[in-house]
Amino acid sequence: MEKPDSKQFARATLLVCILALMVTACSQESGEAESSNAKTKSSKPVSTAILLVTLDTTRADRLGIETRDVDTPNLKTLADRGVYFKQAYSVTPTTLPSHTSMMTGLYPADHKVRENARQIDKKLELLPALLKTRGYKTAAFVSGYPLSSQFGLSRGFGHYDDAFVSSAAERSATETTDLAISWLKGKASPLFMWVHYFDPHDPYQPPEPFKSQYPDEPYLGEIAYMDQQFGRLLTAFEDHNQGRPWKIIVVGDHGEGLGDHGETLHGNLLYQGTMRVPLIVAGTGIEAGTSERAVSVRQVFDTVLNWSGEDRPGGLLGEQVEPVLAEALKPYMHFGWQPQFMAVLDGIKVIMSGDTEIYDVRTDPAEANNLDSVIEPDPALWDAIESYSSLALAEPDTEQQQQALSQDALDKLASLGYIGSPGRSRLREDAPNPRDMVHLYHDMDIAAEYFFRQDYAAAITVFTRILESDPNNFMTALRLAVSYSVTGDDIQAQKFFDRAKAIDPASADLRHYQAMHYMKNEQWDLAQPLFESVLVESPDRLTTLAALAKVYSSQGELKKALLQLERIVKIKDSPGIEWTRLGLLRMALSDTKGAIRAFEISQKMMGDQFTSHLDLGVLYMAERRFKDAAASLDKVSSRHPAYPMALYKRAQTSVLLREKDREKRVRQAWLQADRTTRPLIETERLFQDISFR
Ligand SMILES: [Zn+2]
Repeated sequence: MEKPDSKQFARATLLVCILALMVTACSQESGEAESSNAKTKSSKPVSTAILLVTLDTTRADRLGIETRDVDTPNLKTLADRGVYFKQAYSVTPTTLPSHTSMMTGLYPADHKVRENARQIDKKLELLPALLKTRGYKTAAFVSGYPLSSQFGLSRGFGHYDDAFVSSAAERSATETTDLAISWLKGKASPLFMWVHYFDPHDPYQPPEPFKSQYPDEPYLGEIAYMDQQFGRLLTAFEDHNQGRPWKIIVVGDHGEGLGDHGETLHGNLLYQGTMRVPLIVAGTGIEAGTSERAVSVRQVFDTVLNWSGEDRPGGLLGEQVEPVLAEALKPYMHFGWQPQFMAVLDGIKVIMSGDTEIYDVRTDPAEANNLDSVIEPDPALWDAIESYSSLALAEPDTEQQQQALSQDALDKLASLGYIGSPGRSRLREDAPNPRDMVHLYHDMDIAAEYFFRQDYAAAITVFTRILESDPNNFMTALRLAVSYSVTGDDIQAQKFFDRAKAIDPASADLRHYQAMHYMKNEQWDLAQPLFESVLVESPDRLTTLAALAKVYSSQGELKKALLQLERIVKIKDSPGIEWTRLGLLRMALSDTKGAIRAFEISQKMMGDQFTSHLDLGVLYMAERRFKDAAASLDKVSSRHPAYPMALYKRAQTSVLLREKDREKRVRQAWLQADRTTRPLIETERLFQDISFR
């Protein structure tokens, strides 16, 4: 790509000088403001306004701070004014866990959020709640679905703006910045605002003029665009806090492989491209400089609390030096490959993943020369990485968290290239090193996308290719079986169910999907024991409960079906459809009152989406609640296949209620009668005195 011209550079340098002058003036001003405030208002210190900006998928070496390949004047200027950390690391190359570390101060092995689409434990103390107790107003503006409030990161924020998630998977930096700036207006200090930009995440589609400025490197275009919007935000934040102390942290959640070590995106490996992130702290009282000390994104937590007035040793500007840790467990959790851990101290980085890699990342940032058996790193590195890995791998499975996700949630994650894990992690005997499997990551990403988009024919081609390369890949064998099942190729489906069973005979997922396959072919008696055994292990697995309810219904075991549905409505969020199904089952069991109650709850939850008005109307009639019956029957859509029945029932209620237009209603029911309702109307005793023919 083209280099920025020298004029651009001269302009940037000039800008830096002007801003540097302004900072000096500003900090003097704010110092005065603080002392005069102290005089008039007793000794209470002025609270610092705090802005946290997280840059998704942003590589440290792809900002204008470290490279001339891209122009990011706003971040560059901020780095010059504040402290730029040259060795800042993510905790894991994935969005939700990384942000969870920032909000808790914990590593993933401690907060237990290892992947996207996990629930954050309600017992964990989150940063906004702690700031609130210190009198802070808090707000967050996030731009990507992995940070949707449903996963729990919103807990404790006074305002959490993820409004885009109902319509899209991400929101542009412009929209997010607009919202953040308008929230800022009129807000009194102290305030803590977190703004998250998602633009550099793939797909890379920068808007103009950045699209044209970086025609061959749209990733850099996204970064330049994000920088422009960050500039607007920073200006608004500084203007808002004129005369008051303020501080800011800008940090990446993880980087992007961009082909380094064969990795295109992020999430699977621990090399610098995805693990080293940009990190800047700046603001009132912070002297400009750079830091070579290895630091972690989890230190955002202590840093912000320090700024709010708490005394924490672990802040970014403190003196504490300890190994910085990280993990990449996705290949392990999904495919049983080697788990990967890393530790960095004084520029020496150790990666453990079945074998050991050691790099001096200051002199060898590309990690080309493995120094294992060449140098002996500080024993503190080994101790840290060993105790971390044993803690990380001792964790019980997270299947329950996974199952709480709706299909809608899984689909949105899939559209961003994320896939759920089978839940139970198991190291294979032939576990390959994820580093040696990079040729499969692209196939895995696209196969998962096809699978979740329900393009099974395309998925089959890619899954087959993956399985040829990695024959003991359980999840791929299982998804291949499911894809064949859905496309109706039962012979191939069974072949790959058997293959998956040979790899992991105890898997509950295998039993669930094998049973789904039997269910599709109406082999209820084969499906039933498999579903039942899955529920022994995971009693709250919603999809299994729903499927087993259907199996029992088909077998005529209505009471057993009822028990499954009752379990679902207890544990699922807004189970409107399940309440409808409960109503239908209770109707079939002649439980009129129970059915009415179930339909009423369903109607309340579903609003316009509720479709059982006819059933409910008939039930009200049985209970002689004719007015309620009339109201329900009036709501039956004329497109409903049993609409003539609704008209007939409505005519009956009309006569029973002695409504003025009852003759007209009977006539209408007669005129629109079908084969079922015609003889009923002709012989209806209620209609004896009405001439409708
Ligand atoms: Zn991210």
